[in-house]
Amino acid sequence: MKIKKIYKQNKQAKQPTISLEIFPPKKDGGIETIYQTLTELGDLKPDFISVTYGAGGSGAVNNTLEIAAHIKEQHNIESLHHLTGIMANDQDMLKTLKAIQERGVENILALRGDVPVGSEAKSSDTYQYASKLIEEIHSFGKFCVGAACYPEGHIERRAAIENMEHLKQKEEAGADFFVSQLFFENDSFYRLLDDARSTRICAPITAGIMPILSRSQVERMIFMCGVSLPSKLIKIIHKYEQNIDDLRKAGLEYAFEQIDDLLKHGVDGVHVYTMNRPNVARSALTRYKNLLTISSEVNF
Ligand code: FAD
Repeated sequence: MKIKKIYKQNKQAKQPTISLEIFPPKKDGGIETIYQTLTELGDLKPDFISVTYGAGGSGAVNNTLEIAAHIKEQHNIESLHHLTGIMANDQDMLKTLKAIQERGVENILALRGDVPVGSEAKSSDTYQYASKLIEEIHSFGKFCVGAACYPEGHIERRAAIENMEHLKQKEEAGADFFVSQLFFENDSFYRLLDDARSTRICAPITAGIMPILSRSQVERMIFMCGVSLPSKLIKIIHKYEQNIDDLRKAGLEYAFEQIDDLLKHGVDGVHVYTMNRPNVARSALTRYKNLLTISSEVNF
């Protein structure tokens, strides 16, 4: 099923769309581990599961398509195949799209990607921005296409105005929905929603939430994505950094509070970055099921 249809059905049922993100394991043989993780998540039945793709085209090597097809075939859950254009030429891209279509995966998250750190290879000019890739995917076949959005602006351009112009271009190119970069302050997401709706961007916009598991993970995210850390979270990390279990519990609790608040605000959806940890996804979804009681009282 196309994910845009899932958003539509959930909206009619006054329910948010709940999704999870996993990444293909880097180690050889890691695919069995991810299949085990997916078996554990099977009966939670999120609305869809997305699978990331290496910017250097390493999705083919690290099994994005294999995993996305497995989610659909073995678990009967819709999958979202991430795809990056930055290193691809049009011939590579057509081959990849053909392979995705042949495996019956119907949804693609179209991304520009970044040149891999330490790579000497040059980026390709063919898909300079995600909007170009979105157009290419639609002209290839009948896919449902999602794209990324940035509550605090993309790291290369922080100005809200440019952020919106580029988001609008992606919708005009055919983006059917948006998934946000992680953020730790819900207000930044609400600002993005207000700006998007007043720019007449109508597609569903899902909030990306990443529970904190360690100090190093947070530092990596700040450096890579430029996200801000609210003082409440800094204090939590400071308080529990010597005890990893307590930090994880507090990090999950912080993420749950973010999710509670988002659902109360009637957001289109919540996308949990699971980091391939079944316990993160399990607790988030179990909590979500309890929260359905709250969200059913909210007007979407
Ligand atoms: P774009 O929308 O093309 O934007 C890139 C930059 O160009 C932005 O600064 C934008 O403002 C600017 N821009 C856009 N259009 C124009 C224009 N017409 N003129 C001038 N400037 C313009 N990376 C991976 O490698 N693999 C993944 O699986 C992956 N999954 C992701 C999932 C989500 C939900 C998110 C939020 C990000 C993901 N990323 C992934 C990271 C993403 O590839 C990077 O953030 C990348 O730097 C930008 O990708 P984009 O698709 O948003 O690019």
